[in-house]
Amino acid sequence: MAYKQRTVPMELLILRILDVRGKLSLAEHKYYVNKEKGFKGEVQFDLLTEKLQSDCLILNDLLLEVDNSTFQLDTTIIYQDLIYPFEVKNYESDFIYKPDMLVTTSGMEYKNPLDQLNRSKFLLSQLLQKLGYHLVIEGSVVFINPEFTLYQAPPNVPFIFPTQLNRLMKKLNALPSKLTNRHRKLADKLVSLHQTKSNYTKLPPYKYDGLRKGNTCAVCRSFKVTVPADERKIVCACGHVERIEDAILRNVKEIQLLFPEKKITTNCVHEWCGGIVSQKVIKRILKQSFEQKGKKKHTYYEELT
Ligand SMILES: [Zn+2]
Repeated sequence: MAYKQRTVPMELLILRILDVRGKLSLAEHKYYVNKEKGFKGEVQFDLLTEKLQSDCLILNDLLLEVDNSTFQLDTTIIYQDLIYPFEVKNYESDFIYKPDMLVTTSGMEYKNPLDQLNRSKFLLSQLLQKLGYHLVIEGSVVFINPEFTLYQAPPNVPFIFPTQLNRLMKKLNALPSKLTNRHRKLADKLVSLHQTKSNYTKLPPYKYDGLRKGNTCAVCRSFKVTVPADERKIVCACGHVERIEDAILRNVKEIQLLFPEKKITTNCVHEWCGGIVSQKVIKRILKQSFEQKGKKKHTYYEELT
């Protein structure tokens, strides 16, 4: 099991909501789809690394800083004498290798992920030095998508293609490694340095009033949900049924994510859900799950402490 689990990045959580409730432009929608795809690729790589049997520590998704430079490591694996940062790409279709970029056969240009890997390796080495660790830094760019092909790549670039993933796992499994407390200390240190707020986020601007209100389905994310008269669940046209408590709390999470400053009140949750659940039921659920603050019409709810 990973020493540090991967969670859905805040930016992606917000983009998912905006994609349903906002009016993303074509470019913004594409940005969102790419983020979603990139995340999916990372999760697929996690499924492989979590099967590793060797003595190692797997840290998924680190955003670190050294000397005012921020760098992101999709997957980092600590071994006895080695540390492996992996950059995971979920590119699909046919690409041609150029020293400074990758180009699709239809002419779309992408930065060469090797530059990103080298930058990360350099900054990681600075950071390790500061922390007093001397590990050899390996590292590769992993192309996880089986539909990916790269023409004209020199054989010596540290790229792992989909057809090489099995061998990579075998190689990692065969690494002689015996970890000590010091390795765990390093892992803990890196996790503690992980920054949750990325400077890279390019979220489109949004306002409360501009977002579509209504209850969405937890599975298909459409608004095609109805609430039977007893208000115990919400039922979607896709067939998914969700407990009303879960649906309301999911909506509260959406409001908290998008508008962290906004006070959670029965009224605002009622409005956010498009009025299809009664105020009475919303109030009951908020009371159960949050701490009540303020009085009467000034009542609002905060996370239980
Ligand atoms: Zn649905």
